[in-house]
Amino acid sequence: MTNLTNPLLPEMAEVWQQTLNWQPTDQQKAQFQQLYELILEGNRQLNLTRITEPQEFWEKHLWDSLRGIAPNQQLLPILQEGASVIDIGTGAGFPGIAIAIFAPNSQITLLDSTRKKITFINQVLTTLALTNVKTLIGRAEEIGHEPQHRRTYDLALIRAVGTPSVCAEYALPLVKQGGLAVIYRGNWTAEEAKSVQNAASQLGGVIESIEQFTTPLTNSIRHCLYLRKIVNTPFQFPRPVGVPTQNPL
Ligand code: SAH
Repeated sequence: MTNLTNPLLPEMAEVWQQTLNWQPTDQQKAQFQQLYELILEGNRQLNLTRITEPQEFWEKHLWDSLRGIAPNQQLLPILQEGASVIDIGTGAGFPGIAIAIFAPNSQITLLDSTRKKITFINQVLTTLALTNVKTLIGRAEEIGHEPQHRRTYDLALIRAVGTPSVCAEYALPLVKQGGLAVIYRGNWTAEEAKSVQNAASQLGGVIESIEQFTTPLTNSIRHCLYLRKIVNTPFQFPRPVGVPTQNPL
């Protein structure tokens, strides 16, 4: 359903190959393009994203989403093996939808507290025929206590939702023991590293690594923080709605 009036995303086959040792299939390329067009369209009604130029969308939404699940530039093998994944505060669907397209064998849950965004995403999922994705409207502070979500995910992803400590409190309760929380971040300070270290230890996690890298087209700085869950999160976490942001660990 590519419409000639819509801008086309760049292919970037070599960049995908060099940075992530991967290339999209024709079907995945078509799904990326459709996703792009639906977001441009949705942006007329909803404030979904400021990133709308094709190169920028490719780099800051698609590439960035997949780079996060590739610590040491190795795409996580569990994603091809049926991992269960939650994207917390998915917004217009990043990183979750990009990852669902990349990993059709994984089961992805997209969580956002804004009903309008989830309604938009549901339309996208139908159009793209993505059957490996479910959506959930709610707050991470509450979903983290529901037995059908707490301690059930192999991987929790969170991009542009809050400070690293807040993200850790939202994400770690949802992860299984042995699973991974990935916090996507632009800039990163030594102070944040210290506070997230403290937060992680209270939440049953340890910092496995903090990676700094630059995006491949504009050399923008990015960080990804990988937290491994080693023991159960104490019952009092996540704290009630609003408390993690008002009084970060
Ligand atoms: N992850 C997307 C969107 C970031 S904007 C991206 O990187 O492009 C942050 C999103 O998080 C918003 O859509 C907002 O509704 C959602 N959000 C903020 N706090 C939340 C919470 N406590 N629980 C669930 N969703 C939350």
